[in-house]
Formats: sequence, structure tokens, C-alpha cells
Amino acid sequence: MAGGQEGEEYLFKIVLIGDSAVGKSNLLWRFARNEFDQNSKATIGVEFQTQVVDIDGKEVKAQIWDTAGQERFRAVTSAYYRGAVGALVVYDISRRTTFDSVKRWLDELTTHCDTTVARMLVGNKCDLENIRDVSVEEGKNLAEEEGLFFMETSALESTNVQTAFEMVIREIFNNIS
Ligand code: GDP
Ligand code: MG
Repeated sequence: MAGGQEGEEYLFKIVLIGDSAVGKSNLLWRFARNEFDQNSKATIGVEFQTQVVDIDGKEVKAQIWDTAGQERFRAVTSAYYRGAVGALVVYDISRRTTFDSVKRWLDELTTHCDTTVARMLVGNKCDLENIRDVSVEEGKNLAEEEGLFFMETSALESTNVQTAFEMVIREIFNNIS
């Protein structure tokens, strides 16, 4: 789902995955609200928002897909992943079980997407330092093992949210140009 020569459009589909309640929807809301008007569309079972980002003077449309809560039932369908060129795999730094699930989500990604999909591991809720359950080091190590980018974010405090999305978008852009 990428393309475009000079003067043409770039459209990248990016999916948000990870256990229920890790903050996926809030990350997307934070990213969308800070930068542009919210433009959300509900589809059957899924929802996405499109954001325009400037990468090296080129206009890139990032179509970011959020689940409608179906991950609770481990029922994220192949339609959700179809055509994705980027993914943010999110866990909650205050809940280890969500970190333990990361490998399963990566397996899902491998099953449904091309191996070139740009992947970023996101440890969300870094504002909850007092009840931290997964260290920064553990996040970094896992990311290194799996060959992912890594960032801790807080959708609540707006820490690194923009950066995380933009890193993925830039990586996709680099992959195709
Ligand atoms: P999703 O199920 O992964 O989409 O998670 P949601 O975005 O619905 O968030 C689940 C819960 O976590 C909600 O109560 C949010 O208010 C809370 N939450 C989301 N992001 C953060 C964050 O960065 N910090 C804190 N402290 N809470 C957060
Ligand atoms: Mg959600």
C-alpha cells in the first residue's frame, strides 16, 4: 500500500496491535489530535484515522488502523493486517502480561504481513513509573532480539507519541525509496 513518484501521493497503512487496554486507542487519539483534525471512520470491526505527515518535503498519508477491541477475544482478523506496511506493537509497562504477549503479536504480524513491514515496539504508560513492571532494559533487549525499533511512550502525558509514529512512517518511506 505504498507508491508514488514525484508529485504523487504516498499512502501507508499502519496497524496498532497489542493486548487490550495497553493504550492503543489513546496513542492514536493523541497522535491525531495534536497534529491534525480528527478524521475517523468506523468500518466493520475496525477503525482507522488518516494523518498527513511531511517526510523530507514529501506528503505522506499515514492510515493508522486501530482495533475495535476485538483483540480481547484474540479475534483480530486478516483483513485488519491486509496491506499493512508498518506496525506498532504496544504493551503496558505497568503490566507484565502485556509484555509477555508481544511475541504472540509479532507472530501474528509475521503470519499476515510481508517480512518488510516496519515494526516498532512501544512500551506505553511510561508515566506510571511508580508501578513499573517491565524495565526499559527489558524492552530494549526484546526489541534488539527481534530487530524492532523501541520507544517508551505516554499517551497520557504526550511523551514520544509523535516520535514513535514518525519513526515508523520514516522507516516505511526509507524502505520504498
Ligand atoms: P486499548 O484497549 O489498547 O485501545 O487501550 P485504551 O487506549 O482504551 O486505554 C486503556 C486504558 O489505559 C484507559 O483507561 C486509558 O485511559 C489508559 N491509558 C492509555 N494510555 C495511557 C498512558 O499513557 N498512561 C496512563 N497512565 N494510562 C493510559
Ligand atoms: Mg482500543
